[in-house]
Amino acid sequence: MHRTKVRVVEDALDANNTIARANRDDFDRHGVAVVNLMSAPGAGKTRLLERALDGLAVRAGVLEGDVAGSLDADRLSLLHVPVTQLNTGAGFGGECHLDANMVRSAIPALPLDEIDLLVIENVGNLVCPAEFRVGEDARIMVCSVTEGEDKPLKYPLMFRACELVLINKIDLIPHLEVDVERLLANLEAVNPGARHMLVSARTGEGVDAFRDWLAEVPARVRAAA
Ligand code: MG
Ligand code: ZN
Repeated sequence: MHRTKVRVVEDALDANNTIARANRDDFDRHGVAVVNLMSAPGAGKTRLLERALDGLAVRAGVLEGDVAGSLDADRLSLLHVPVTQLNTGAGFGGECHLDANMVRSAIPALPLDEIDLLVIENVGNLVCPAEFRVGEDARIMVCSVTEGEDKPLKYPLMFRACELVLINKIDLIPHLEVDVERLLANLEAVNPGARHMLVSARTGEGVDAFRDWLAEVPARVRAAA
């Protein structure tokens, strides 16, 4: 009984990976590098993108994943960056993550010939987004200091799956009892050597380094190909 259940989950992830590879082939063919941006709800993904996409040195687009609505896409479209909305509530059972098949369904709507970098803003959730590749080249997560220092230990897969961890809302540190050194030590414990940046999407502190990192992704992907 238990073994059957494990098998079904593995098959589902295999199927997802196959579709993710097809997505990646499509992105590669158009010379588009793809970043999968993940976090818990409210960690500040959209606000960070508003900051980082403004003045970005490469042509970027956003695929905005949400269960419902287009609130974040509406905000980002003010930046004159092409934004495509993908709602998991419309035909995908309101899933709490994006998977390769959902992203595949959005590819025809993406202006792939007009961009060099696609940022996929995943559904806010610290659990399943880490399990589903969608065809991305790099994975970033945002962890707000308001979430407390224990999150890497509670959700190790998410923190391990990412090559860059943005510690956001650092402007709030004086008002919190969070121990940021402990948070970074916990990150190091689950993902040794993980790159991290301390940022505040609200004040803009640290965002220049993130913007530079994002701008280098397409060249890095081309060099690795
Ligand atoms: Mg958002
Ligand atoms: Zn989910």
